Amino acid sequence: MRQHGKLEYGGQAVPQRTCVGCRVRTAKSELLRLVLVEDHVVPDLRGRLSGRGASLHPSLSCLELAERRRAFPRAFRVPGPLDVSPVRAHLEGDHEMSCRTPS
Ligand SMILES: [Zn+2]
Repeated sequence: MRQHGKLEYGGQAVPQRTCVGCRVRTAKSELLRLVLVEDHVVPDLRGRLSGRGASLHPSLSCLELAERRRAFPRAFRVPGPLDVSPVRAHLEGDHEMSCRTPS
């Protein structure tokens, strides 16, 4: 994917990824990296989980789009279906998962 010739971006080639929801290419740093853990799609918040990743805008609408188009099984190359609830919980913007202790 190397472009020949002299393309100069002031030395800043920003890595880009395509959002699996809306399919818009965006700077990698603005996308949430997702990885597959067994059948669960989980946000890789620290960028440390290994394996095939998918990128998503950190927005519920992109998550819903991705689900509707079955983008996750395709991105991870598995038959699916996959559980995206960890991502949803993350995008819903709280840490309820850790607080939701059954009493
Ligand atoms: Zn998106």
